[in-house]
Amino acid sequence: DARKPQNFIADIIEADLRAGRNGGQVVTRFPPEPNGFLHIGHAKSILLNFGLAKAYGGRTHLRFDDTNPVTEETEYVEAIENDVRWLGGDWGSHLYYASDYFERMYECAERLVREGQAYVDSQTQEQIREARGSFERPGVNSPFRDRTVAENLDLFRRMRAGEFPDGACVLRGKIDMSHRNVLMRDPLLYRIRHASHHRTADRWCIYPMYDYAHPLEDAFEGVTHSICTLEFESNRELYDWVLDALGPWDPRPRQYEFARLALGYTVMSKRKLLQLVQEKRVSGWDDPRMPTVAGMRRRGVTPEALRDFADLIGVAKNNSLVDIGKLEFAIRGDLEGRSPRALAVLAPLPVTIANWPAGKVEELDLPWWPGEPARGGSRKVPFSGQLLVERDDFALEPPADWKRLAPGREVRLAGAYVIRCEEAVRGPGGEVVGLRCTYDPASRGEGAGARKVSGTVHWVDAARSIPAEVRLYDRLFAVEQPDAEPSFLDTLNPDSLQVAKGARTEPALRDAAPSARYQFLRQGYFFADPVDSRPGAPAWNRTITLKDTWTA
Ligand code: ATP
Ligand code: MG
Ligand code: MG
Repeated sequence: DARKPQNFIADIIEADLRAGRNGGQVVTRFPPEPNGFLHIGHAKSILLNFGLAKAYGGRTHLRFDDTNPVTEETEYVEAIENDVRWLGGDWGSHLYYASDYFERMYECAERLVREGQAYVDSQTQEQIREARGSFERPGVNSPFRDRTVAENLDLFRRMRAGEFPDGACVLRGKIDMSHRNVLMRDPLLYRIRHASHHRTADRWCIYPMYDYAHPLEDAFEGVTHSICTLEFESNRELYDWVLDALGPWDPRPRQYEFARLALGYTVMSKRKLLQLVQEKRVSGWDDPRMPTVAGMRRRGVTPEALRDFADLIGVAKNNSLVDIGKLEFAIRGDLEGRSPRALAVLAPLPVTIANWPAGKVEELDLPWWPGEPARGGSRKVPFSGQLLVERDDFALEPPADWKRLAPGREVRLAGAYVIRCEEAVRGPGGEVVGLRCTYDPASRGEGAGARKVSGTVHWVDAARSIPAEVRLYDRLFAVEQPDAEPSFLDTLNPDSLQVAKGARTEPALRDAAPSARYQFLRQGYFFADPVDSRPGAPAWNRTITLKDTWTA
């Protein structure tokens, strides 16, 4: 993919390259915290970071930002690697764990202490917060701020040795308690946490804070462009302070911020996604309704569709809510060209063709790509006097613009004959239980000169079609901004999953491989579930319907 990215970070990189900065190198990183599955926001960051490095002959590191022992779990590491790879991210040999740098980070912190740039503060968390002040109110120096270097070094070593309980003291950078940027008011660098870490077990009981650890991770690895989301804009000053205090570095990393992706009808906080999983509101992290990479993959979305989506929305400098219609548009556009057309009836209504020769079964040879003869490929579809059509394609009393079946109306059965509905067959309660139709033997085929009728409907053969599990997925939330509601859980869409009762597909789909994609004519794009499909019995997930709410 040789296309050059078009965004403001690419412009920065090009300017750096022209100026010969960083020895002409471009090194980016994707630094997930292994505390949940990746979501579509992460996908955007992955595509940006890996895309930029690839376009400028650089490399991208996959780094697990595992500096918080309490929330991280090994199970997520594997899922994250898998998702990054699926999105096309290739980190080569550059897989790192922030926890591998704990010793080096500690040494840097001792250096700060020795150079009088950090001190051990024994105030309580509450006192520290209170003394920090606010945007309007300057902070107040800690009574422990003027401890000697020797005293600080001794206390910091004893923090490491485990002599103090959680919260007894912290290591703070000694900057300026009246700094206009509140984050610069003697930031916390280390805290005590007697907790087992997923990789370093009980070797450490002090852990570095994000603002201290992150710049060092970047610098240790030779990252040139450290791209993060907009909320970290004011952290950049601290990022630079840490690096300036502990340099020199070659290359010297720089932080750049872009707008985090927020998407309508979606929540993206890992805490909320975890809650959906834990409370079993969804079947798991990979539930096809989840905005996770794993969920979208299982729903049938491709990495190319996500790339198209990322290109469509671009890289912004201002936060905004992206219309989910854009994601759906990108998914449809991508599936259009990769999904052969097949016949399935989701809610069947029996049709009897009264003038069909008794016992006759015709094998229609239908192309997988109608209207695109160059693509070739076809399958046999049985047709007899007993068929099934979609219940919704029949109306007893049709509205004025009705183009489907109704008493006395004609339609074409897709790829087959024109039929005329002679009468609706009623059940004991008067309900319509089937249609009695006739067909026009001379009307087969849809090519030039074919008989014109107002509508075309899909169908399957009643006896030779196969029953299928078909899951109809819709948006997980019923409102565009679930995060804006008092409880996001109250806005779950009760109809986000419906299983089509009695659905049947044409027999050729019996052998569809797991992960196969089809367009079910007039219904949408469907994906053979890779987990629940059985040999001879694929389970179908509707990836998306056919109708766009957003157009380019
Ligand atoms: P959460 O707040 O849900 O825990 P996070 O940002 O803390 O998300 P990380 O695992 O730390 O999750 O994120 C890894 C990378 O992905 C970071 O560089 C972050 O900037 C990026 N990222 C996370 N969410 C989004 C988003 N919605 N849009 C764009 N990038 C994102
Ligand atoms: Mg987080
Ligand atoms: Mg984070």
